[in-house]
Amino acid sequence: MTDHFVTVRERMVQEQLLCRGISDERVLKVMSEVPRHLFVEDAQRARAYGDHPLPIASDQTISQPFVVAAMTQALHLQGTERVLEIGTGSGYQAAVLSRLCEKVFTVERVHILLSGARKVFDQLHYYNILSRLDDGTMGWQEHAPYDAIIVTAGGPEIPQPLIDQLADPGRMVIPVGEREVQELLLLTKQDGEVAVERLESVRFVSLIGEHGWK
Ligand code: SAH
Repeated sequence: MTDHFVTVRERMVQEQLLCRGISDERVLKVMSEVPRHLFVEDAQRARAYGDHPLPIASDQTISQPFVVAAMTQALHLQGTERVLEIGTGSGYQAAVLSRLCEKVFTVERVHILLSGARKVFDQLHYYNILSRLDDGTMGWQEHAPYDAIIVTAGGPEIPQPLIDQLADPGRMVIPVGEREVQELLLLTKQDGEVAVERLESVRFVSLIGEHGWK
């Protein structure tokens, strides 16, 4: 599919990702290809590749391109993984992941967002994304374990079901902290041991659910 945003996307990769330390060639390539403007409302299209988050329906946001790239890179995807995403939102992060792994399982709690994202996945023929309307703090038990888990909303703690549903070895990125500001954590599971590393300060919308904000 050709689109008029090829050059704008290339500039986004050069100016926002490469020079800030995103070095995974596969992530850079995919972000120069996935049409981010299709995941935002018409009125936001011209700003789709800007260095900022953007509003989507239901008072939610699509993360800044750099944050999408950094979280994706932290998962070290090789192409064979099954990845769980919590917080489908616009569907952009799931779309990026789907080009880098075998299958994406994504959970969203707001119906209108999920149906919008599904339409774009179909339009782009991204058929390796399975989605579900539910409280993602419970994970998606049916398809567990997952080689990687990414949570794109911030909660007060790492939901235990997600730790349980992570494969060994496995990697999870998740923002944890206060309502307004969180730390992006990288949790790794290896030989039965779980380790947690802090990556950077971030601002995500709230993770709402059983193991999130009430
Ligand atoms: N990954 C998204 C970012 C969306 S913002 C994108 O690329 O656009 C975070 C999303 O998490 C919101 O859509 C919000 O509705 C959703 N969310 C919050 N709590 C949730 C929960 N418990 N389960 C599933 N989705 C949740």
